[in-house]
Amino acid sequence: MRVFPFTAIVGQERMKRALILNAISPQIGGVLIRGERGTAKSTAARALAALLPEIEVVSDCPYSCNPRRTDEMCDRCRQRFAAGEALPITRRKTRFVDLPVSATEDRVVGTLDIERAIKQGERHFEPGVLAAANRGLLYVDEVNLLDDHVVDLLLDSAAMGVNVVEREGISFSHPARFILVGTMNPEEGDLRPQLLDRFALCVDIQGIADADARVEILRRRLLYEQDPERFCEEWCEAEAALSQRIARAQALLPDVSYDTGHLYTIAELTAEMEVDGHRADIVILKTAIAHAAFEGRTMITESDILLAAELALPHRLRRKPFEEIQTKMEKLEQRLEHARAAAEELETRRADLEALSAAKKKRNS
Ligand SMILES: [Zn+2]
Repeated sequence: MRVFPFTAIVGQERMKRALILNAISPQIGGVLIRGERGTAKSTAARALAALLPEIEVVSDCPYSCNPRRTDEMCDRCRQRFAAGEALPITRRKTRFVDLPVSATEDRVVGTLDIERAIKQGERHFEPGVLAAANRGLLYVDEVNLLDDHVVDLLLDSAAMGVNVVEREGISFSHPARFILVGTMNPEEGDLRPQLLDRFALCVDIQGIADADARVEILRRRLLYEQDPERFCEEWCEAEAALSQRIARAQALLPDVSYDTGHLYTIAELTAEMEVDGHRADIVILKTAIAHAAFEGRTMITESDILLAAELALPHRLRRKPFEEIQTKMEKLEQRLEHARAAAEELETRRADLEALSAAKKKRNS
Protein backbone atom coordinates (compact mmCIF):
# COMPACT_ATOMS: atom_id res chain seq x y z
CA MET A 1 0.00 0.00 0.00
CA ARG A 2 1.13 3.55 -0.72
CA VAL A 3 2.52 5.44 2.26
CA PHE A 4 0.52 8.42 3.54
CA PRO A 5 2.15 11.53 1.97
CA PHE A 6 4.39 13.63 4.22
CA THR A 7 2.98 16.89 2.87
CA ALA A 8 -0.58 15.75 3.70
CA ILE A 9 0.17 15.58 7.43
CA VAL A 10 -1.78 18.37 9.14
CA GLY A 11 0.11 20.64 11.55
CA GLN A 12 3.02 19.24 13.64
CA GLU A 13 5.33 21.79 12.04
CA ARG A 14 8.17 21.23 14.49
CA MET A 15 8.18 17.49 13.94
CA LYS A 16 8.20 17.94 10.19
CA ARG A 17 10.97 20.53 10.42
CA ALA A 18 13.11 18.27 12.63
CA LEU A 19 12.68 15.36 10.22
CA ILE A 20 13.43 17.41 7.11
CA LEU A 21 16.56 18.97 8.63
CA ASN A 22 17.89 15.54 9.63
CA ALA A 23 17.24 14.32 6.11
CA ILE A 24 19.25 17.24 4.72
CA SER A 25 22.06 16.66 7.23
CA PRO A 26 21.94 13.22 8.93
CA GLN A 27 24.99 14.13 10.96
CA ILE A 28 22.90 16.47 13.04
CA GLY A 29 22.51 13.23 14.98
CA GLY A 30 18.90 12.14 14.98
CA VAL A 31 15.54 13.21 16.28
CA LEU A 32 13.47 11.89 19.14
CA ILE A 33 9.72 12.31 18.82
CA ARG A 34 7.80 12.07 22.08
CA GLY A 35 4.05 11.75 22.10
CA GLU A 36 1.07 9.61 22.88
CA ARG A 37 -0.16 6.87 20.63
CA GLY A 38 -1.98 7.94 17.48
CA THR A 39 -0.08 11.18 16.96
CA ALA A 40 1.29 10.38 13.49
CA LYS A 41 4.85 9.71 14.72
CA SER A 42 5.48 6.58 12.68
CA THR A 43 3.39 7.87 9.76
CA ALA A 44 5.67 10.89 9.54
CA ALA A 45 8.90 8.86 9.63
CA ARG A 46 7.67 6.46 6.95
CA ALA A 47 6.36 9.33 4.87
CA LEU A 48 9.71 11.10 5.04
CA ALA A 49 11.61 8.07 3.74
CA ALA A 50 9.09 7.62 0.92
CA LEU A 51 9.49 11.23 -0.08
CA LEU A 52 13.28 11.45 -0.16
CA PRO A 53 15.08 11.64 -3.50
CA GLU A 54 16.24 8.40 -5.10
CA ILE A 55 19.88 7.56 -4.50
CA GLU A 56 22.56 5.92 -6.62
CA VAL A 57 24.14 2.91 -4.94
CA VAL A 58 26.85 0.36 -5.76
CA SER A 59 24.42 -2.45 -6.51
CA ASP A 60 26.45 -5.35 -5.10
CA CYS A 61 27.61 -3.61 -1.93
CA PRO A 62 25.88 -4.54 1.34
CA TYR A 63 26.38 -0.96 2.59
CA SER A 64 24.77 0.76 -0.42
CA CYS A 65 27.89 2.84 -1.03
CA ASN A 66 27.66 6.04 -3.02
CA PRO A 67 29.46 5.20 -6.30
CA ARG A 68 30.61 8.81 -6.75
CA ARG A 69 32.01 9.57 -3.31
CA THR A 70 35.17 7.66 -2.43
CA ASP A 71 35.30 9.38 0.97
CA GLU A 72 31.95 7.77 1.88
CA MET A 73 32.74 4.29 0.56
CA CYS A 74 33.42 1.05 2.39
CA ASP A 75 36.96 -0.32 2.09
CA ARG A 76 36.04 -2.84 -0.56
CA CYS A 77 34.29 -0.34 -2.85
CA ARG A 78 37.17 2.08 -2.43
CA GLN A 79 39.70 -0.59 -3.39
CA ARG A 80 37.66 -1.62 -6.41
CA PHE A 81 37.32 2.02 -7.43
CA ALA A 82 41.05 2.61 -7.00
CA ALA A 83 41.80 -0.49 -9.10
CA GLY A 84 39.85 1.10 -11.94
CA GLU A 85 36.87 -1.22 -11.76
CA ALA A 86 33.59 0.18 -13.10
CA LEU A 87 31.31 -0.18 -10.09
CA PRO A 88 27.83 -1.49 -10.93
CA ILE A 89 25.28 1.24 -10.18
CA THR A 90 21.56 1.12 -9.47
CA ARG A 91 19.11 3.81 -8.44
CA ARG A 92 16.69 3.15 -5.67
CA LYS A 93 14.46 4.71 -3.06
CA THR A 94 15.84 5.76 0.30
CA ARG A 95 15.45 2.75 2.56
CA PHE A 96 13.19 2.74 5.61
CA VAL A 97 14.64 0.37 8.19
CA ASP A 98 12.44 -0.48 11.15
CA LEU A 99 14.44 -1.63 14.19
CA PRO A 100 12.60 -4.13 16.38
CA VAL A 101 12.58 -3.43 20.13
CA SER A 102 14.04 -6.89 20.72
CA ALA A 103 17.13 -6.17 18.60
CA THR A 104 20.41 -7.37 20.11
CA GLU A 105 23.81 -5.73 19.75
CA ASP A 106 24.96 -8.37 17.20
CA ARG A 107 21.85 -7.87 15.13
CA VAL A 108 22.41 -4.11 15.10
CA VAL A 109 26.14 -3.78 14.47
CA GLY A 110 26.74 -7.09 12.65
CA THR A 111 29.12 -9.91 13.53
CA LEU A 112 32.77 -10.59 12.94
CA ASP A 113 33.65 -14.24 12.38
CA ILE A 114 36.58 -14.50 14.76
CA GLU A 115 37.27 -18.20 14.16
CA ARG A 116 37.58 -17.69 10.44
CA ALA A 117 39.81 -14.70 10.99
CA ILE A 118 42.17 -16.72 13.17
CA LYS A 119 42.17 -19.90 11.07
CA GLN A 120 42.18 -18.48 7.58
CA GLY A 121 43.52 -15.00 8.25
CA GLU A 122 40.60 -13.32 6.54
CA ARG A 123 38.06 -11.02 8.02
CA HIS A 124 34.52 -12.16 7.52
CA PHE A 125 31.78 -9.74 8.50
CA GLU A 126 28.07 -10.47 8.60
CA PRO A 127 26.36 -7.09 8.10
CA GLY A 128 23.70 -6.01 10.60
CA VAL A 129 20.97 -3.40 10.73
CA LEU A 130 23.43 -0.48 10.59
CA ALA A 131 24.70 -1.78 7.24
CA ALA A 132 21.18 -1.91 5.85
CA ALA A 133 20.47 1.56 7.21
CA ASN A 134 23.47 3.27 5.59
CA ARG A 135 22.15 6.22 3.56
CA GLY A 136 18.63 5.40 4.67
CA LEU A 137 16.30 6.15 7.53
CA LEU A 138 16.56 4.08 10.69
CA TYR A 139 13.33 4.10 12.63
CA VAL A 140 13.25 3.00 16.26
CA ASP A 141 9.77 2.83 17.68
CA GLU A 142 9.54 2.84 21.48
CA VAL A 143 13.21 3.62 21.79
CA ASN A 144 12.76 3.88 25.57
CA LEU A 145 12.08 0.14 25.69
CA LEU A 146 15.24 -0.76 23.77
CA ASP A 147 18.33 -2.00 25.59
CA ASP A 148 20.32 1.08 26.73
CA HIS A 149 23.52 -0.31 25.30
CA VAL A 150 21.93 -0.71 21.86
CA VAL A 151 20.57 2.85 21.94
CA ASP A 152 24.07 3.98 22.82
CA LEU A 153 25.48 2.22 19.73
CA LEU A 154 22.83 3.71 17.47
CA LEU A 155 23.50 7.22 18.70
CA ASP A 156 27.26 6.76 18.28
CA SER A 157 26.89 5.64 14.69
CA ALA A 158 24.37 8.35 13.85
CA ALA A 159 26.76 11.01 15.06
CA MET A 160 29.97 9.50 13.62
CA GLY A 161 28.58 8.17 10.35
CA VAL A 162 30.51 4.95 10.80
CA ASN A 163 29.99 1.58 12.48
CA VAL A 164 33.06 0.12 14.15
CA VAL A 165 32.98 -3.50 15.33
CA GLU A 166 35.80 -4.77 17.49
CA ARG A 167 36.26 -8.34 18.73
CA GLU A 168 39.36 -9.76 20.33
CA GLY A 169 41.72 -7.26 18.77
CA ILE A 170 40.21 -7.56 15.31
CA SER A 171 38.25 -4.61 14.04
CA PHE A 172 36.05 -3.89 11.09
CA SER A 173 34.27 -0.71 10.12
CA HIS A 174 31.85 0.41 7.45
CA PRO A 175 30.00 3.63 6.63
CA ALA A 176 26.77 4.08 8.59
CA ARG A 177 25.31 7.46 7.78
CA PHE A 178 21.61 7.36 8.40
CA ILE A 179 18.71 9.51 9.50
CA LEU A 180 17.94 8.34 13.03
CA VAL A 181 14.34 8.72 14.12
CA GLY A 182 13.34 7.44 17.55
CA THR A 183 9.86 7.66 18.96
CA MET A 184 8.49 7.06 22.40
CA ASN A 185 5.37 7.40 24.46
CA PRO A 186 6.41 9.16 27.70
CA GLU A 187 3.64 7.33 29.55
CA GLU A 188 5.55 4.09 29.01
CA GLY A 189 8.68 5.11 30.85
CA ASP A 190 11.42 7.61 30.19
CA LEU A 191 14.72 7.40 28.42
CA ARG A 192 17.80 7.60 30.64
CA PRO A 193 18.92 11.26 30.88
CA GLN A 194 22.38 10.40 29.50
CA LEU A 195 20.78 8.94 26.37
CA LEU A 196 18.17 11.66 26.09
CA ASP A 197 20.87 14.31 25.86
CA ARG A 198 22.55 12.46 23.01
CA PHE A 199 19.55 12.68 20.73
CA ALA A 200 20.37 15.82 18.79
CA LEU A 201 16.83 17.06 18.40
CA CYS A 202 13.64 16.40 20.31
CA VAL A 203 10.04 17.21 19.57
CA ASP A 204 7.11 16.84 21.92
CA ILE A 205 3.92 16.16 20.06
CA GLN A 206 0.60 17.17 21.43
CA GLY A 207 -2.75 16.18 20.06
CA ILE A 208 -4.26 18.98 17.98
CA ALA A 209 -7.03 20.86 19.83
CA ASP A 210 -8.20 23.09 17.00
CA ALA A 211 -11.53 21.75 15.66
CA ASP A 212 -10.89 22.78 12.04
CA ALA A 213 -7.53 21.06 12.02
CA ARG A 214 -9.01 17.92 13.59
CA VAL A 215 -11.71 17.80 10.93
CA GLU A 216 -9.06 18.19 8.23
CA ILE A 217 -7.02 15.33 9.71
CA LEU A 218 -10.12 13.14 9.73
CA ARG A 219 -11.12 14.12 6.21
CA ARG A 220 -7.68 13.36 4.76
CA ARG A 221 -7.42 10.08 6.66
CA LEU A 222 -10.79 8.93 5.26
CA LEU A 223 -9.92 9.95 1.72
CA TYR A 224 -6.63 8.09 2.00
CA GLU A 225 -8.25 4.94 3.36
CA GLN A 226 -10.94 4.95 0.68
CA ASP A 227 -8.51 5.22 -2.21
CA PRO A 228 -4.79 5.45 -1.32
CA GLU A 229 -3.70 5.57 -4.98
CA ARG A 230 -5.88 8.50 -5.81
CA PHE A 231 -5.09 10.33 -2.59
CA CYS A 232 -1.36 10.03 -3.24
CA GLU A 233 -1.84 11.19 -6.82
CA GLU A 234 -3.41 14.36 -5.50
CA TRP A 235 -0.44 15.04 -3.29
CA CYS A 236 2.28 13.95 -5.70
CA GLU A 237 3.06 17.47 -6.87
CA ALA A 238 3.58 18.76 -3.32
CA GLU A 239 5.65 15.66 -2.53
CA ALA A 240 7.86 16.12 -5.58
CA ALA A 241 8.37 19.80 -4.77
CA LEU A 242 9.51 19.07 -1.21
CA SER A 243 11.69 16.19 -2.39
CA GLN A 244 13.46 18.47 -4.87
CA ARG A 245 13.85 21.17 -2.26
CA ILE A 246 15.54 18.67 0.08
CA ALA A 247 17.84 17.51 -2.73
CA ARG A 248 18.82 21.13 -3.48
CA ALA A 249 19.47 21.75 0.21
CA GLN A 250 21.67 18.63 0.43
CA ALA A 251 23.73 19.92 -2.48
CA LEU A 252 23.96 23.41 -0.98
CA LEU A 253 24.85 22.25 2.54
CA PRO A 254 28.67 22.25 2.15
CA ASP A 255 28.54 25.89 0.99
CA VAL A 256 26.62 27.24 3.97
CA SER A 257 28.77 29.32 6.28
CA TYR A 258 28.52 31.28 9.53
CA ASP A 259 30.62 33.88 11.31
CA THR A 260 31.92 34.41 14.82
CA GLY A 261 28.91 36.57 15.62
CA HIS A 262 26.62 33.58 15.04
CA LEU A 263 28.71 31.46 17.40
CA TYR A 264 28.31 34.11 20.09
CA THR A 265 24.57 34.24 19.49
CA ILE A 266 24.41 30.48 20.06
CA ALA A 267 26.66 30.56 23.12
CA GLU A 268 24.71 33.41 24.70
CA LEU A 269 21.45 31.64 24.00
CA THR A 270 22.47 28.35 25.61
CA ALA A 271 24.10 30.13 28.56
CA GLU A 272 20.96 32.20 29.09
CA MET A 273 18.81 29.07 28.96
CA GLU A 274 21.21 27.42 31.43
CA VAL A 275 21.81 24.38 29.26
CA ASP A 276 24.28 21.85 30.66
CA GLY A 277 27.25 20.76 28.57
CA HIS A 278 28.23 21.86 25.10
CA ARG A 279 26.42 19.34 22.93
CA ALA A 280 23.50 21.72 22.43
CA ASP A 281 25.74 24.42 20.92
CA ILE A 282 27.11 22.23 18.15
CA VAL A 283 23.70 20.70 17.47
CA ILE A 284 22.15 24.16 17.13
CA LEU A 285 24.89 25.20 14.70
CA LYS A 286 24.54 22.08 12.52
CA THR A 287 20.76 22.38 12.53
CA ALA A 288 20.87 26.10 11.70
CA ILE A 289 23.17 25.33 8.76
CA ALA A 290 20.72 22.70 7.47
CA HIS A 291 17.86 25.16 7.86
CA ALA A 292 19.70 27.85 5.90
CA ALA A 293 20.32 25.29 3.13
CA PHE A 294 16.63 24.39 3.17
CA GLU A 295 15.82 28.06 2.68
CA GLY A 296 18.31 28.24 -0.19
CA ARG A 297 20.76 30.51 1.64
CA THR A 298 24.53 30.17 2.06
CA MET A 299 24.74 32.16 5.30
CA ILE A 300 22.92 31.38 8.51
CA THR A 301 20.73 33.96 10.23
CA GLU A 302 19.45 34.53 13.75
CA SER A 303 16.13 32.96 12.72
CA ASP A 304 17.94 29.76 11.68
CA ILE A 305 19.61 29.67 15.09
CA LEU A 306 16.39 30.21 17.02
CA LEU A 307 14.46 27.66 14.95
CA ALA A 308 17.26 25.18 15.59
CA ALA A 309 17.23 25.98 19.31
CA GLU A 310 13.52 25.18 19.47
CA LEU A 311 14.39 21.64 18.42
CA ALA A 312 17.66 21.23 20.29
CA LEU A 313 16.69 22.54 23.72
CA PRO A 314 13.42 21.03 25.02
CA HIS A 315 15.04 17.80 26.29
CA ARG A 316 18.12 19.58 27.60
CA LEU A 317 16.33 21.76 30.14
CA ARG A 318 15.14 18.72 32.02
CA ARG A 319 16.47 19.49 35.47
CA LYS A 320 14.42 22.62 35.73
CA PRO A 321 10.86 22.78 37.00
CA PHE A 322 8.25 22.45 34.26
CA GLU A 323 7.03 26.07 34.58
CA GLU A 324 10.54 27.40 34.19
CA ILE A 325 11.01 25.40 31.00
CA GLN A 326 7.70 26.72 29.68
CA THR A 327 8.76 30.32 30.38
CA LYS A 328 12.14 29.78 28.74
CA MET A 329 10.64 28.24 25.62
CA GLU A 330 8.09 31.07 25.45
CA LYS A 331 10.89 33.61 25.62
CA LEU A 332 12.60 31.76 22.78
CA GLU A 333 9.38 31.96 20.75
CA GLN A 334 9.20 35.71 21.33
CA ARG A 335 12.77 36.20 20.20
CA LEU A 336 12.05 34.13 17.13
CA GLU A 337 9.05 36.31 16.30
CA HIS A 338 11.15 39.44 16.69
CA ALA A 339 13.91 38.05 14.50
CA ARG A 340 11.39 37.09 11.84
CA ALA A 341 9.68 40.47 11.98
CA ALA A 342 13.06 42.21 11.68
CA ALA A 343 14.00 40.02 8.72
CA GLU A 344 10.66 40.75 7.06
CA GLU A 345 11.04 44.47 7.62
CA LEU A 346 14.51 44.36 6.11
CA GLU A 347 13.13 42.46 3.13
CA THR A 348 10.30 44.99 2.67
CA ARG A 349 12.75 47.87 2.86
CA ARG A 350 15.04 46.20 0.36
CA ALA A 351 12.10 45.66 -2.01
CA ASP A 352 11.02 49.30 -1.55
CA LEU A 353 14.51 50.53 -2.34
CA GLU A 354 14.68 48.35 -5.43
CA ALA A 355 11.32 49.62 -6.63
CA LEU A 356 12.44 53.17 -5.96
CA SER A 357 15.68 52.83 -7.90
CA ALA A 358 13.84 51.07 -10.73
CA ALA A 359 11.38 53.97 -10.88
CA LYS A 360 14.27 56.48 -10.89
CA LYS A 361 16.00 54.66 -13.72
CA LYS A 362 12.77 54.70 -15.70
CA ARG A 363 12.35 58.43 -15.14
CA ASN A 364 15.94 59.16 -16.15
CA SER A 365 15.85 57.10 -19.33
ZN1 LIG B 1 30.69 -0.40 -0.48
